[in-house]
Amino acid sequence: MASSYAAAPAADKPWTPPYCSVVAVDTCSFFYRVCSVCERTLLDSDTECRFCSRRTPNPGSKRLYRILVSVGTVDRVLVVVFFDRAARVLMGCSADEWAAFLGAQPSARELAGELLRGEMLRMTLNPSRRGNAEHLRVASVAPLRAGFRPVVDRLRRLRAAGAGTSVEQTG
Ligand SMILES: [Zn+2]
Repeated sequence: MASSYAAAPAADKPWTPPYCSVVAVDTCSFFYRVCSVCERTLLDSDTECRFCSRRTPNPGSKRLYRILVSVGTVDRVLVVVFFDRAARVLMGCSADEWAAFLGAQPSARELAGELLRGEMLRMTLNPSRRGNAEHLRVASVAPLRAGFRPVVDRLRRLRAAGAGTSVEQTG
């Protein structure tokens, strides 16, 4: 490529494009399950962590975010992955809380994608830890729009506005 503007990220260095705008959010899967003690990833078939269960009875599990998001920047669209810390900035709650929210309001899954679409973000992107062709990881994110509200805040407001005060009181 002749232009060096917004050049491709170096394979091993963080990259901070001037801005990114959200093109699409993969709303099929927001999170994955980990051991609540050591945070190792659990398989769907795992009831508990094989390592911690030797020392701790019922180590338990929790969810952490892993959200794939297509973002557009100066000259390209790319898919990046939001892990827990970065995802909380956009979502406004923990992954476990979001799972409970989805349980109570399944339509929030699609709505979350719609609410985030077009959001302008300043992000620092890190190469995949495994060093292969996987998606860039979001190391940090700051919304650029004045008055940005996380997804859960906006959904709660929508729900309160749309369904009247009775839902707000019980929810
Ligand atoms: Zn563990």
